Amino acid sequence: MKRKDSTTYLHKIGAIADREGVDLYAVGGYVRDMILGRKTGEIDFVAVGDAPALALETCRRLNGHGFVVYEKFGTASFLLDGRQFEFVTARAETYHVDSRNPEVRQSSLDDDLRRRDFTVNALAMKVNRKGFGDIFDPFNGRRDIKRRLIRTPLDPERTFSDDPLRIMRAARFAGQLNFHIAPETLAAMAGEKERLKIVSQERITAELLKILSHPKPSIGLRILQDTGVMEIIFPELAHLSGVEQRDDYHHKDVFAHTLKVVDNAAAISDDILLRFTALVHDLGKPAVKRFEEGLGWTFHSHELVGERMLNGICRRLKLSNEFKHYSKKLTRLHMRPIQLIGEEVTDSAVRRLLVQAGDDVEALMTLCRADITSGNPGRVKKHLANFDHVVQRMQEVEEKDKMRAFQSPVRGDEIMRICGLEPGPAVGRIKNRIEEAILDGTIPNEYDAAMAYLHEIKDQYSPPH
Ligand code: ATP
Ligand code: MG
Repeated sequence: MKRKDSTTYLHKIGAIADREGVDLYAVGGYVRDMILGRKTGEIDFVAVGDAPALALETCRRLNGHGFVVYEKFGTASFLLDGRQFEFVTARAETYHVDSRNPEVRQSSLDDDLRRRDFTVNALAMKVNRKGFGDIFDPFNGRRDIKRRLIRTPLDPERTFSDDPLRIMRAARFAGQLNFHIAPETLAAMAGEKERLKIVSQERITAELLKILSHPKPSIGLRILQDTGVMEIIFPELAHLSGVEQRDDYHHKDVFAHTLKVVDNAAAISDDILLRFTALVHDLGKPAVKRFEEGLGWTFHSHELVGERMLNGICRRLKLSNEFKHYSKKLTRLHMRPIQLIGEEVTDSAVRRLLVQAGDDVEALMTLCRADITSGNPGRVKKHLANFDHVVQRMQEVEEKDKMRAFQSPVRGDEIMRICGLEPGPAVGRIKNRIEEAILDGTIPNEYDAAMAYLHEIKDQYSPPH
């Protein structure tokens, strides 16, 4: 279905607002992106009047769905043709130092624009018939869009102190729009960073994932690091800075390397799980870093240390189990394909990796490809060519014996019957022996062969008579 041009909706919604006698404006990201000529998504409206009532009427007349209202905040939203429409009542906010939640009262459009985070987001466009398309721009947002500048409308310290999440939003918009942050705004981000400690983890994590979701996540991440914000929201990541490493596979400092890996992953895949994993895959390095004569810096077992760290990190960030399992698994395995480079790759080494990666083998290979970074483009090219060879070997082995869906062809209940065993650890051990024999290539991955092998070894496990 072709998506309707957004101005068609604006005219229709403006007409409904006229009938209801409400002044209505499109605001925020929609107006900004329209001026920038970017694709627009959700549309936010400010109503000088009862926004939830107008939203309900609009949803009814235009056959929208998924209507949600938050009376307490004077906001409501619905969906139409896959697009989200948000309505808020124009309001003024007063923050008190002792409370995180502002005092809110219904107010004018001007007051509403004053409470917004950045000048480029504090633009409004009228949608009522009279004056349709007029832009209200009290803080020179259009000038800042031209200059590609993120700047707060009011005093930046105050703005960030009132709602410290705005510090992360500044970094996010700089990345999303590829804008600079004005020097006094940047200084205030660093100055007010401690205030982020009062923001809920859910809001912080959501913003971090938004930063990761843009085409070049390193822009926002670098800003978080340079302002000292990363140290507060994600210290393990901040501490990768200054940890130097060998320059043949990777960039010098683990933080710089990590940013490059995230950008590389983002260039190949939209998957947020993969991007998050790229961000955390080397977190184990500082703990195991050692200088070895003749080798330089080494990081033995950093993938296992990193995997373990992710339990606590995912819990603290309140990430889902899906994030936890996926990032742990790929972190644990991320050295394996690289280790296959250069040696004579045996079928058995490839099979083991295929079995361990299971359905995530493509994602693992994408991560590993992204992980090849170096200041030296010649080296990157060489390593990528070697890596392609590993990928090809994996495909060959996979086609040959369909290892990915691997499971012992002999089931636990058969093992118990043949060996005369009760359920218990011995059954698992026997199953493992069979699987190992298949992975080593001692026997083929077939039922009859596995059964014959079981008969061969069963005496070692049978219970005493
Ligand atoms: P996106 O393109 O990501 O949707 P957006 O500018 O629409 O960008 P939203 O988070 O959807 O961003 O918020 C809509 C508008 O609400 C913003 O443009 C801004 O004017 C205002 N806003 C949102 N969050 C805040 C905040 N924490 N402090 C001040 N203003 C905010
Ligand atoms: Mg928006």
